[in-house]
Amino acid sequence: MYPAQFEYHKAGSVKEALDLLAKHKDDAKVLAGGHSLLPAMKLRLAQPKHVIDIGKISSLSGVKEEGGTLVIGALTTHYAIESSAVLKSKCPLMPEVAGHIGDPMVRNMGTLGGSLAHADPAADWPAAVIALGAEMVAEGPKGKRTIKIDDFFKGLLTTALADDEILTEIRVPAAAASVKSAYAKFPHPASRFAVVGVAAVLTMDGGKIGKARLCFEYVLERATQDDLRKQAQVQLDRIMGLMALLVSEPCKRGVEGRYPLAAVAQDASVDDFTQVFAV
Ligand SMILES: Cc1cc2nc3c(=O)[nH]c(=O)nc-3n(C[C@H](O)[C@H](O)[C@H](O)COP(=O)(O)OP(=O)(O)OC[C@H]3O[C@@H](n4cnc5c(N)ncnc54)[C@H](O)[C@@H]3O)c2cc1C
Repeated sequence: MYPAQFEYHKAGSVKEALDLLAKHKDDAKVLAGGHSLLPAMKLRLAQPKHVIDIGKISSLSGVKEEGGTLVIGALTTHYAIESSAVLKSKCPLMPEVAGHIGDPMVRNMGTLGGSLAHADPAADWPAAVIALGAEMVAEGPKGKRTIKIDDFFKGLLTTALADDEILTEIRVPAAAASVKSAYAKFPHPASRFAVVGVAAVLTMDGGKIGKARLCFEYVLERATQDDLRKQAQVQLDRIMGLMALLVSEPCKRGVEGRYPLAAVAQDASVDDFTQVFAV
């Protein structure tokens, strides 16, 4: 299938992209890796009159450490995250999650920012960045603003980003030695998108869990912690059971640096966790 006709613009800088967005407003869409936008355009689910390609803005790509924070440019590809030495040592959940996405082609083209801006609840990144307690940096005509991840996802394919804003950075805390993380998903055999998945970040306090952030993906369109507490105990128990099965093999093998999530899941109730989320 072919997309509807559109005008292509190549932005050389964030300012240029923002100027184009301000000019074309609702008629425009930003293009990053194109692996969600282009399929949507071919299916005519999206029909922007103007496509603003930000893919070559080099300042939006790469990983750097600032104090105790890892700053990941929105255009950083899934593969660059999967192979990043700094992330492997300071935030191993990110490379682990990246390795679960699609196939090599998708990982080479798709970007972290594109996936988060797209806000597909079956995607891998939303659960991971929620579990990590990330911050999103957006830039618009009024300058930069930081959005806490718990305020970022508003629903299916909807985020807190305004039409005239671009997501520029994702900031995640560098993990202390006491922080353990794991990611597991049951992938769809064709697309590799999650049928169900979970990201867990646990801060250990001696031999016990001091604090935990768990995020389940493709469970609800969007659930807050309160929604889960009020409505989803039964569903959560079921998912916990499923995830216990899914993660029990790596746990049995005693993968280094992983807390035995299966053991947590078997005994879990919502109140056992500090923070439980779902996308
Ligand atoms: C065959 C296939 C298999 C896949 N499998 C998986 C999978 O297993 N797991 C998974 O998580 N994903 C999967 N994906 C999706 C893939 O990861 C996409 O690359 C990703 O979701 C979107 O990133 P992108 O850079 O391609 O964004 P694009 O497609 O370029 O953009 C997506 C949306 O985000 C907006 N956008 C992009 N960048 C920004 C920005 N910086 N600021 C504001 N808005 C922005 C665009 O306007 C558009 O609306 C798959 C895709 C395909 C085609």
